[in-house]
Amino acid sequence: MRKTLILILICGLASVLFACDRDKSATDSAGQKPPAAAPADTTLPALSLPPDSGPPPTFDGDRALQYVKEIVKFGPRPIGSPNHKKVEDYLDSHLKGDQVEDVAFTADTPEGKFPVHNIIAKFPGTKDGIIVIASHYDTNYPLRNTSYVGANDGGSSSALLLEIANQLRGKPREGYSVWLVWDDAEEGVKPDTEVAFMDDSLYGIRHLAEKWQADGTLKKIKAFLLADMIGDADLNIDRDLNSTPWLESVVYESATRLGYQSHFYGHINQVSDDHLPFVQRGVPSADLIDFSYGYNNVFWHTPQDTVDKLSPKSLQISGAVILETVRLLDNMNPLPPK
Ligand SMILES: [Zn+2]
Repeated sequence: MRKTLILILICGLASVLFACDRDKSATDSAGQKPPAAAPADTTLPALSLPPDSGPPPTFDGDRALQYVKEIVKFGPRPIGSPNHKKVEDYLDSHLKGDQVEDVAFTADTPEGKFPVHNIIAKFPGTKDGIIVIASHYDTNYPLRNTSYVGANDGGSSSALLLEIANQLRGKPREGYSVWLVWDDAEEGVKPDTEVAFMDDSLYGIRHLAEKWQADGTLKKIKAFLLADMIGDADLNIDRDLNSTPWLESVVYESATRLGYQSHFYGHINQVSDDHLPFVQRGVPSADLIDFSYGYNNVFWHTPQDTVDKLSPKSLQISGAVILETVRLLDNMNPLPPK
């Protein structure tokens, strides 16, 4: 994922007065907002939500962390690499017996053509409609010849989805169908500075959004939940201004019901990530991302993005909140308008 319109805007306005680092969240609820910036509407809508029902969702953070370790053990997994294929096979091996679809195509990138595989595991429910939970699994292409393994960026959320699959498998779903999407080629092939973000990134998920729009699937999607960089031991999930406000409210309510709200929305950000093709098509979408990975996001897209920065507790918090969000959505009748 990359940076945001609001950060660039604020940096531009404030740069005369003081140094403004584009890698720093400029609108921070801790109170460091530059006075010259145009105010963004960051309020969360109040919703009438169903009461708590049943015990909290279970999610095994230790097992999820073990999956992260196994994924990063393959080494860097940029598109087109043998390691990438090994991780595809690894994901498939964990989904044996599930209803799996591989949406494959060839991406035309500034570095040439690459095979791209979106892996989708479908868990049918009793309600008419689909909740998508997505994570990319590729690693940054420009870092392909380094030791970069993306433990948090791509690794943590891919492992998270494998553990969510464990929790969904073999149980009847009294709710919407849940589709888990391991999307591919999220990372651009050129450095951030060289090619416009939407022209060189999100290859897999853009293809999926276009395909689902063409075949009518998109109309059935009630919510698109994205997980990215959610394993940081110091977990602070951003309030994302590109996400759908009412869905952000549901996520926050889910976190609050589980007692994890202190890990949510301490920072306000505006994130360009895999949810954008769905946001642009009117699908309610929320990006669960912690884009403060080390002081000043120093570990992001560096070989320092390694497993020792993660914790099973953060994976458990993220996983449980996503599952609680699904449960709330299942019981909201009707869902707010898009
Ligand atoms: Zn990345």
